[in-house]
Amino acid sequence: MPGDVNDGFVWAYSQHGGYTVKTGYDLIVQGKMETAGQISPQELTRIELKKRVWKIPTLPKIRMFLWRVISGAVAVADRLNSRGLGVDPTCRLCNNGVETINHVLFQCTTASQIWADVDVALPARVLQHSLEENVAYVFDAMQDLSKTETVRRSIPWVLWLIWKNRNSVIYAHVQESLERLLRVMFEEVEQWFELNKVQPTRTDMNTRLEGDDIWRPPEDGGIKCNIHANWRNAHLHSGVAWVARDQRGNVLYHARDAITHAPNRFVAELRCVLWSLSSLRDLGVSRVTVAVDYHEVIEALKKPQQWPRYRILLEKIRNLKEEFDSLDFEEEKILTNRIARDIAKSVLRDGRFQSYLALGGPSWLHDRIAGETIRSDV
Ligand SMILES: [Zn+2]
Repeated sequence: MPGDVNDGFVWAYSQHGGYTVKTGYDLIVQGKMETAGQISPQELTRIELKKRVWKIPTLPKIRMFLWRVISGAVAVADRLNSRGLGVDPTCRLCNNGVETINHVLFQCTTASQIWADVDVALPARVLQHSLEENVAYVFDAMQDLSKTETVRRSIPWVLWLIWKNRNSVIYAHVQESLERLLRVMFEEVEQWFELNKVQPTRTDMNTRLEGDDIWRPPEDGGIKCNIHANWRNAHLHSGVAWVARDQRGNVLYHARDAITHAPNRFVAELRCVLWSLSSLRDLGVSRVTVAVDYHEVIEALKKPQQWPRYRILLEKIRNLKEEFDSLDFEEEKILTNRIARDIAKSVLRDGRFQSYLALGGPSWLHDRIAGETIRSDV
């Protein structure tokens, strides 16, 4: 199954939802501000923390999770009981204490072990501290220069890991070794920061003499989607991949899949275009430039009438094109299309036949695609 329970959650909030939720939240805050004097200090702290959440450099799904933590919208025993569900309030990880979100993330023995393993010493009074105080403490730790960059960057992922681990123990009765979970997590953090490196701006690039081997972000506030189909022969599956980045070069999504036998590389690439376009449309992307490193495919996309042999595929692409406000095709150099190429290659090489979208669930955690991409990219 691609992803887990979080898929729905992630899709719902990735593009429009996240913004809507935040907007809704701003409106609530505004509404409350207007009736000044009614906000408790604790609520003010929560408001401040929620503001900080949106600026944390991490996966959107983790930001959303942190926002829910602070909002008291995470389903722990304590919360369920406050809604009259009558579940056993005891923490099932340590059987010692009421399972509040504060307990799960900071006070439980499992949590304190994980925090110790990642070298974040929790405050001595962690047990007396409120959720808000403990969250503020680890948020501050993200700026604490006495900690290594790796530790500082990992903190949001650590919170997420503690939560995911709790769920897998309780619902799937699986306790993976913490050592392994942390190792995978650190890899993921490193990959995320590599993929989300801010690209040089166009002005910077113009001053370079050798700009041709640099991937260029889209110019107009749209999204650029690099694609690639890794075709080997007519009998094997082809690995396909796309990576969508914004103006600043931030990766918004990336996906991979395997497609069944294509007679040739050309057809595989066209099917990859079709697949990436329908995914982007489903994600609500409306302005996109699709970057392809196959010259003839670009020719065919631009002048479909000259490629009658591929009429059916080209027509399907043309029909999809109408669902976008703006859709262009651009030729990319092989050298600057390496991320998409490497992800596509990894499908067959590593047998990753399951379809996968980067904002999805735990498959990302177990996935070294991006890391391999980066390493070969350096
Ligand atoms: Zn516990």
